[in-house]
Amino acid sequence: MDLNRRPRLATAWLGGCSGCHMSFLDLDERLIDLAAAADICYSPLMDIKEFPEAVDIALVEGAVANEDHLRDLRTIRARSKTLIAFGDCAVTGNVTAMRNLFPLENILEAAYGDPAVVRALSAPPDPVPRLLGRVLRLHDVVEVDWYLPGCPPSADSIFEIITAVLAGKKPPGGRKFGC
Ligand code: SF4
Repeated sequence: MDLNRRPRLATAWLGGCSGCHMSFLDLDERLIDLAAAADICYSPLMDIKEFPEAVDIALVEGAVANEDHLRDLRTIRARSKTLIAFGDCAVTGNVTAMRNLFPLENILEAAYGDPAVVRALSAPPDPVPRLLGRVLRLHDVVEVDWYLPGCPPSADSIFEIITAVLAGKKPPGGRKFGC
């Protein structure tokens, strides 16, 4: 971490329900402590479209369900020093991956009941992203540094993992995969 600047913190939202970010907001007054300790440089809670360069900590909510998620996750990984899989959908696939139990075409047919819509969604026009055949966990696509399970993780565990990583310590609430 560059000691001449404040650490940069980002949060991102892929294929999830946003409940993990709601839990982030449950930090309440501790958000002020966080803002004092780090620059929150990117988040779905802010009006910024492009994931920035030189991020120190990125929390990524949700699984990888479409081609935009794939591209965004690879960008986040390339631009972030520490990547935290934020919540069960990011860690295990969880709710988002329930569709993996069935072929994608069957799910689209059941949802829309119209073969024309199903065909359109199989090769959607720009800018609609194409769904992946299977939902992936973050670590199926990129290297993940820390895992924060929970659906959603509690505000306490979010605060603990961020403050520990900022301090260069092993997060008490976070786990490396398999630990
Ligand atoms: Fe929503 Fe739970 Fe998935 Fe978080 S882990 S995005 S709260 S379903």
